[in-house]
Amino acid sequence: MERPAAQCIWAAGLSRPACGMGWDFSGTPWAVTALSLRTLLQHQPAVTMPDTVSAILSATPDAVAIFTDFDGTLVEIAPRPDAIVVPPELASRLEALHAALGGALAIVTGRTIAAIDAFLFVPDISVTGSHGAEWRHEHHVERPLGHLLADAAEIAHRVSDTLNGQPDLLVEPKPTGVAVHYRAAPEKGALAHAALVRAIDGFNDFQTVDGKKVIEARPKSADKGSAIARLMQVKPFAGRIPIFIGDDVTDEDGFAAADRLGGFGIRIGEGETHARYVLPDIAALYTYFDALITARHPAATPHPNRERSTP
Ligand SMILES: [Mg+2]
Repeated sequence: MERPAAQCIWAAGLSRPACGMGWDFSGTPWAVTALSLRTLLQHQPAVTMPDTVSAILSATPDAVAIFTDFDGTLVEIAPRPDAIVVPPELASRLEALHAALGGALAIVTGRTIAAIDAFLFVPDISVTGSHGAEWRHEHHVERPLGHLLADAAEIAHRVSDTLNGQPDLLVEPKPTGVAVHYRAAPEKGALAHAALVRAIDGFNDFQTVDGKKVIEARPKSADKGSAIARLMQVKPFAGRIPIFIGDDVTDEDGFAAADRLGGFGIRIGEGETHARYVLPDIAALYTYFDALITARHPAATPHPNRERSTP
């Protein structure tokens, strides 16, 4: 098969030309043509991510920035948030992806940064935790909503008091709010919701947000879209096409922000969504990551096993 000629585009907003050529996963040759990558993306319907788009993005890692949720996106959801199983090769895979993207990889999660570090020690990778209420970039940690910490602690205290005696509801205090997980007792979702609504009464900077068998109280200004927009203002994210990957209703802000900033969202699993593309499961996302890694460094092993230190 004759390899197509490399072509370059310099799309609006890119800091450098994006060049690409190769074959899509079905073996069809393609090359980036006169259409800008952004224009190409904008003409794709909201469907399962086509192989051609995946292949083009894989061959142009310098053009994209990836922001990814954690639970339900990088790891399977477990009955309790502390019971997730992190695949042993995940950290190495993310570190290889981080290198392939020139550092333009960030984990954008509702968990705290400390929780992510406990499960997945990847200190070089940017993390925005607690839905953007705290972030770590280039080893520097900031809590832009630090003035709300005392209010958050009081709200968490109220919720814990109200739900004391409900062992199947897990109250998880966070630096900037509190989450109540009711996966072990789905029939108590309304009870959890009522407890949080009562707890934020009088705290006008806070709101309740529903997720998958979890409900949270958190600052109104903390959402994943704001977190992505903020990271997109700094190197190495600035000037790239943002791709946000998530699985839950709390990720919709992120999908919308990626769209607004010239990129798109990828949702893991089916469901009502603003994401432009859908991948069926976490395994498909790993495959996509590996395509990005090997396209950048063809000789590289996507997720080499190695000795890991723990935090
Ligand atoms: Mg999730």
